[in-house]
Amino acid sequence: MSAVFVRVALDHPLPTLFDYRYDLAPRPEAGLLVRVPFGRRDVVGLICEVTTQSDVPADKLRAVEAICDACAPLSGEWRALAAFAAEYYQRGLGEVALPALPQALRDASRWARLFAPAERYQLLPAGRAVLPDALPARAHALRRLAEALAAQPALAAADARALHPKASTTLAEWQSKGWVVREEKDDAPELPDELTNDALLPRLTQEQQEAVDAITAARSFAPFLLHGVTGSGKTEVYLHALAGLLHARPDAQALVLVPEINLTPQFEAAFRARFAALPEGAIVTMHSGLAEGERVRNWLAAHTGRARIVLGTRLAILASMPGLALIVVDEEHDPAYKQQEGLRYSARDLAIYRAKQREIPVVLGSATPSLESWWQAEQGRYTRLTLSRRAVAEAVLPSVRLVDLEEERRRGRASIEGLSGPLVAALKSRLERGEQSLVFLNRRGYAPILSCDACGWVAGCPRCSAYVVLHKPERNLRCHHCGWEARIPKSCPDCGNVDIAPMGRGTQRVEETLASAVPGARVLRIDADSTRRKGSAQALFSDVHAGEVDILVGTQMIAKGHDFQRVTLVGVLNADTALFSHDFRASERLFAQLMQVSGRAGRSGLPGEVVIQTRYPRHALYHALARHDYVGFANSTLTERRDAHLPPFVYQALLRAEGRTLEAALGFLQQAATAFAPLPGADRVTVYDAVPLTIVKVFNVHRAQLLLECASRAALQTALRAWQPELRSLKGVLRWAVEVDPLDI
Ligand code: ADP
Ligand code: ZN
Ligand code: ZN
Repeated sequence: MSAVFVRVALDHPLPTLFDYRYDLAPRPEAGLLVRVPFGRRDVVGLICEVTTQSDVPADKLRAVEAICDACAPLSGEWRALAAFAAEYYQRGLGEVALPALPQALRDASRWARLFAPAERYQLLPAGRAVLPDALPARAHALRRLAEALAAQPALAAADARALHPKASTTLAEWQSKGWVVREEKDDAPELPDELTNDALLPRLTQEQQEAVDAITAARSFAPFLLHGVTGSGKTEVYLHALAGLLHARPDAQALVLVPEINLTPQFEAAFRARFAALPEGAIVTMHSGLAEGERVRNWLAAHTGRARIVLGTRLAILASMPGLALIVVDEEHDPAYKQQEGLRYSARDLAIYRAKQREIPVVLGSATPSLESWWQAEQGRYTRLTLSRRAVAEAVLPSVRLVDLEEERRRGRASIEGLSGPLVAALKSRLERGEQSLVFLNRRGYAPILSCDACGWVAGCPRCSAYVVLHKPERNLRCHHCGWEARIPKSCPDCGNVDIAPMGRGTQRVEETLASAVPGARVLRIDADSTRRKGSAQALFSDVHAGEVDILVGTQMIAKGHDFQRVTLVGVLNADTALFSHDFRASERLFAQLMQVSGRAGRSGLPGEVVIQTRYPRHALYHALARHDYVGFANSTLTERRDAHLPPFVYQALLRAEGRTLEAALGFLQQAATAFAPLPGADRVTVYDAVPLTIVKVFNVHRAQLLLECASRAALQTALRAWQPELRSLKGVLRWAVEVDPLDI
């Protein structure tokens, strides 16, 4: 018999597969996980090829130590998806494939336990007749095992092992005597007669019906852009499309992505209510907030096909789903779909690739689509489905009012700590009517700056080139970039002046101001600080839904997706800063954010109002917002982008470098640029000068980047690929990484 070798992908930056000898009993197969020695450690890898020869000299080859054959291999299709992501984002295959698996699968010591629950033993009548009497009286462990078998319909192998360490051997023996039978419990997906109770469903609007029909009619790759104003009932469209699919095919699976963990409970509840007839375990969630056990259970449910609906955040895009038949990306414009560390992928873009790979429909939903997706629809590459009105018959889009802060000041009108008179009056009237308000500003903490009037000292982070934020409830100063914390000084550390004062406002300060400006109001703050504990965000949102809150103040966490029924007023503070950002995407992001947060008002039929405080009431962005004119905003912004040769009309990539000094980082980038010039395809790529990042130093590391731009995606990809070995040979920085399609520049 000839020797067998396997080529294994490991989570390692080298973009190669690693060869190992294979001489274990179970048959090796591409897609199975193995434990292999690597350097001095043992690691888990993914078999990509099984061969009978290896170029590695026999004395250098090491052997596979264990194979995980209890779980079906990851399909060739899944591996191709991982390979595409690796290729596109300039990484090694293993760097994509392995981190995509739940941690428990990447720890070989846990494999046995993971798959045990499916294996169960049932006591047969022949066994019942002789057990436990046939056992020696002193064999306590064996007797306990027999009693446990008699006491329940089926005993899980894991439980059997807990009763008796040699249970597997004993049970195999008993099975050969015909006393017990082993069953693999693998719930085959059943299809109930009626998945949904149609009588309870709202009648779809005509626009919703047309959207559902278009999606359910698709039989191959079909990208849809579901452009629906806030409150137009996009969720209902997803639910109907899902119902159609789950009905039609008992093995079909759907993947629904949401941008934030906090939005999963709302969707999960809607899915469970609508598809209550689906068997246990048919709807699973996948996000970083799950406990490890649950994460791997849900992953396996998707992998075996038992899960019919997988609801998750961006990481779920790499779930193994053999029956995948529909992908939904809700709030597709949301920057949270972009992973910002490690493999910097866009889950939305991978969703499109995955749908194409599987020849299935994919629905991108949003009230404010990304300009990338909008442009695809404009060109006819995505089919546009429009929901132009709110679904609830009486609900109309809120009216938008701009409060001119300059004019308020000129006329000497009173404001309270940054809350203008008109906003305070509007808040009070909502309180009187028993309606809820929402106050939005994108800055957490109490004040972004603590400074000394006498000498000009400003509290900064010793490790970063950034100011630190004053946090009042926690009574400290915090760096939002590196996490550095310090007590609030009693006097200026430079001149001793005791009159140091907070400048500017964050959510904590606004919360404090609201409590005094609107007496009697129950104010609740929701931001990253108030929801740090697991599950606390959910509890806070429940309070809002239960009507136990009058004014909700918070960051973008409150702006997205939530279906608040009683909110009729939205106040927006401090939006102006984003109008003049150096980032060309800042206005797109601001518009989307304001449109989303405005969309929280007036969803149930009570008239809604949005009050925006600004120094630039004539700015075109605010005007488009007041007219709810996404289309106008999108088209004029696209024209600007085209004129300025910016995405989506060109493709970009960044090379980021981190060094002990800024000179080191910039020097590395300069060498990299020199190495890039002669590469194939490079003549079509514009390479800009290396520049420091706006916040150049974080945690004592200096950061700089090099921007590359090209009108052809293919040419850029070719050049980037050829650049990798050159980059690996350069030295002098702590870290470097290539980022394709960056969102923050
Ligand atoms: P979107 O995600 O588009 O902002 P939602 O899906 O949250 O909107 O729906 C907004 C509200 O409209 C929800 O309360 C939902 O129950 C309701 N709704 C959706 N479709 C209909 C319909 N056809 N008839 C009545 N109410 C509907
Ligand atoms: Zn001072
Ligand atoms: Zn810092």
